[in-house]
Amino acid sequence: MPDTTSGAGRYAPSPSGDLHFGNLRTALLAWLCARSTGRAFYMRVEDIDSGRSSDASAARQLEDLAALGVDWDGEVLYQHTRFAAYEDALRRLPTYECYCSRKDILAAAAAPHALLGAYPGTCRDLSEAERDHRRAALRAQGRVPALRLRSTVNSWTVTDEFVGDYVGLVDDMVLKRADWAYNLAVVVDDAFQNIDQVVRGDDLLSSAPRQAYLAHLLGVATPRYIHVPLVLNAAGQRLAKRDGPVTFREMGDDVLERLGASIGLPGARSAAELLERFSIGAIPREPFIWL
Ligand code: GLU
Repeated sequence: MPDTTSGAGRYAPSPSGDLHFGNLRTALLAWLCARSTGRAFYMRVEDIDSGRSSDASAARQLEDLAALGVDWDGEVLYQHTRFAAYEDALRRLPTYECYCSRKDILAAAAAPHALLGAYPGTCRDLSEAERDHRRAALRAQGRVPALRLRSTVNSWTVTDEFVGDYVGLVDDMVLKRADWAYNLAVVVDDAFQNIDQVVRGDDLLSSAPRQAYLAHLLGVATPRYIHVPLVLNAAGQRLAKRDGPVTFREMGDDVLERLGASIGLPGARSAAELLERFSIGAIPREPFIWL
């Protein structure tokens, strides 16, 4: 990683299929935001989901990004090489074991007074004897307990470039199950890579308070957030592969031009040309509709 005095941005794809127009647009915006503000730009492959990630998919995604003209500094960081760092962070956080299945949680969360969307705390205050009993029952089914954060807040405030102050739910989030949890990995790795500008789809805005709270507990700086509107299909749903020829390889030569047009910069022939004309303040605030 090169030394940087002015921070860094990043793109952090999950390698579970080819990037589509919406993903490419977010990647391009992240690159433009970083480069236009003199930041380094890093690439991080978020391959902690062992069931869905593949090296082949990561390689194709990186090839497509490079072909688009999105370049990055240093080596690509793969999250599967980072487990020791996550383990270290986990040791510094207050946690408890949770034995709940998804069904248990849904049932408890439906109770009156439950905080919408929050883990109801079922396993927070169990006695040691109860823990031993439930752990053994889980093991008998071949499952492992989850580790949850013992949170002392219910909400946390982050500042987003477009939304301003945003208050979001913080609960006893899962930090590790069979796999490491995204929320923990993203915080540990953003700090490790010196990321001070996070540009990503606004579907992740509601996760930002959880992540900022973890950053606070771990004593690392919270990045500046720029959550950008997603690409939606004509029905108003998030763009997906079933919406037609939407990946770089399917779309052919005019991808860059169409990406430029979607961010209000029509007619550009290269990423470098987009960079010359780009400013963060001019990013469209409405979702882009794919027709
Ligand atoms: N890996 C996540 C995704 O592909 C993005 C995480 C992030 O940017 O914080 O949706």
